[in-house]
Amino acid sequence: MTNALVLLSGGQDSTTCLLDTLSLAYDEVSAVSFDYGQRHRVELGQARHILDVLRSRTGRALPHYVLQVPALRDLADAALTSPDIAVEATATSGAGNEYAARHGLPSTFVPARNAMLLATAAALAAKLDAPTIVTGICEADDAGYPDCREAFRLPMEAALRAALDWPELELAAPLMNRTKAETWKLAWQAAGEWGIELVRQATHTCYEGERRELHDYGYGCDRCPACHTRAAGWREFVAHEFNAGALA
Ligand SMILES: [Zn+2]
Repeated sequence: MTNALVLLSGGQDSTTCLLDTLSLAYDEVSAVSFDYGQRHRVELGQARHILDVLRSRTGRALPHYVLQVPALRDLADAALTSPDIAVEATATSGAGNEYAARHGLPSTFVPARNAMLLATAAALAAKLDAPTIVTGICEADDAGYPDCREAFRLPMEAALRAALDWPELELAAPLMNRTKAETWKLAWQAAGEWGIELVRQATHTCYEGERRELHDYGYGCDRCPACHTRAAGWREFVAHEFNAGALA
């Protein structure tokens, strides 16, 4: 008898984590999304849509909590929250995200975001008696975020266990060492072809918020770093693992 709480942004990684969690033997699976003024609020709408599809497909309740984290919006200068800052793989000084520029990080890095979101999720998990918190953080795709690494996950898990006096609390990160191609494969293993189609068509990754054109890997602008990473993973998955004709 265990419950799991999945952080669901509406993107590829968190949706794949949700599919994976649903394929495991949890009694109840809940989802939490955060509203912190992210540039592409289209993600939140996609998260709701994804849960609607999964409820009708699985017959499970899948409660969804949307929590406001306005402090992140107030504090962050990142390209992920401000439309005035360009998306740069390594932030340049004067372009708006000075912390990222000083530390050689992408302009989309939001300082302490995952620490805040995971602590907030842990408060909800305590309320729900859900000792497994599932997050899509991943260090293998090399986006360069320090709070997506195992070196962050382990001490964060230890800190939350201590903070809550809850030794069973687990921060599960099923994608931690998976490449983007392996993430596509996990969706396939967890939910078959319909899982792939759900991830391909319903999840949102593009930094530009573009959802007008459906490419082989899903919707996106086809130009930003997030679209490039997603597309490269899809093509590697199709080339090595998956019969693309199955989707024709
Ligand atoms: Zn894009």
